Amino acid sequence: MTTQDRITLITGANKGIGLEAARQLGKAGHRVLLGARDAGRAKAAADTLRAEGVNVRVVRIDLDDPSSIAAAAADVTAQEGRLDVLVNNAAIVDPADGPAGTADLAAVRRIFDTNFFGSVAVTQAFLPLLEKSTAGRIINVSSGLGSIALNADPTWEYAAVKLLGYNGSKAALNLFTVILAAELKDKGILVHAVNPGYTATDLNGHSGHQTLAEGAQEIVRLARLDGGPTGTFTSKDGTDPW
Ligand code: NAP
Repeated sequence: MTTQDRITLITGANKGIGLEAARQLGKAGHRVLLGARDAGRAKAAADTLRAEGVNVRVVRIDLDDPSSIAAAAADVTAQEGRLDVLVNNAAIVDPADGPAGTADLAAVRRIFDTNFFGSVAVTQAFLPLLEKSTAGRIINVSSGLGSIALNADPTWEYAAVKLLGYNGSKAALNLFTVILAAELKDKGILVHAVNPGYTATDLNGHSGHQTLAEGAQEIVRLARLDGGPTGTFTSKDGTDPW
């Protein structure tokens, strides 16, 4: 399959890194299913991309709402018949998140519900559609903050950012990536974790130093790749440690 023929669903694609990945993959010829939880924000983003020539359709999907995930999978089954690339991009931070000894547990649970359980639920719902592809690929948008190795390194530049909920949810997503990659290897579906890098978006009050194009770069590279290894954790600068 050429990259032009790919059908790609990106969750949380109404803004930030997800929207930029949708834009770049759309311009590369992918049919983009723009996943978003809010109809108004989804329509505005899809209208923008359509005006730029992207083949885009909105798929309503809220990671916190199992019925919306089931409805989204039913919609894509009926309208598209298969899915080639799933980008699990949607995620949250929470102001009540914090250090391991004191973080508000309700906040930690909220973060895990969206970032980990939500992404797992979306993946499970869309697996039958990915199995219908000849080039199935799952890209879990993780973070350097999800790396246990980097969290354990006191000299790492982000060593001070030790958020139990956010970092923990991304570490769990990394493990999901590794064990799902092993499970799907014989089916030819590739599974990746990607660290976009510190990127200026609403998630961090636009404090990130990378542009949206830089933040989307590794997601876009993998979504366009033919074949390649599975079970990887990479950023635009190379391999990240688990
Ligand atoms: P962002 O601008 O805040 O965008 C997050 C997206 O996720 C929004 O579209 C948001 O929708 C959506 N979302 C949140 N909860 C959702 C839910 N329950 N159901 C469906 N959609 C939901 O953040 P971003 O920086 O682009 O982040 C994209 C990904 O990159 C995330 O996985 C993040 O953890 C990761 N990441 C970011 C950075 C960085 O520096 N920015 C670094 C490392 C990793 P609404 O607009 O409706 O809220």
